[in-house]
Amino acid sequence: MVDTIDRIDNKTRPVILDTSAILSGKYDLTSNGIFVPSSVLDEIRKGKIGRLVSLSTDTIKVIEPDPKYLEKVRKAAVSTGDIDRMSNTDIDAVALALQLSGILVTDDYSMQNTAVALGVEVSPASMKKIGKIIKWTYKCTGCGRIYTKKISSCPICGHELRNYPAGIRKRT
Ligand SMILES: [Zn+2]
Repeated sequence: MVDTIDRIDNKTRPVILDTSAILSGKYDLTSNGIFVPSSVLDEIRKGKIGRLVSLSTDTIKVIEPDPKYLEKVRKAAVSTGDIDRMSNTDIDAVALALQLSGILVTDDYSMQNTAVALGVEVSPASMKKIGKIIKWTYKCTGCGRIYTKKISSCPICGHELRNYPAGIRKRT
């Protein structure tokens, strides 16, 4: 469900970035089809984040979300229980993604959760979070025991071991 940034085809889909996505530096801000609400740019300009970021604001399109969509996002955030963890800026970004039928890029869990509840596609801003780095372990094909080192066969039951990624979480 969650797509990776490098697979986003922003030639056809608007991409909405939140503050974390801009600051991640992982996104090419000069590419077309990037949208932000003005509150996101304000956050960065006011230096709330404590980092200096130079923005090519001639390629980023600044759009204010329609109140209709803000209301939808607030309602969804109330029903998911995320509302208390979301700033007005967060709500703006989700609403803009909803309005533009775009892809919301954020690392904020509450924003992701609310967006998904509204059927908005989300993508994490940081590569770390999307499991690009897989730590492998080895699982016995016979008894299912997990080993952290590669050995030729299971010392318990003698079956082969297969690569098995550690820390797999089931997506619901
Ligand atoms: Zn075994």
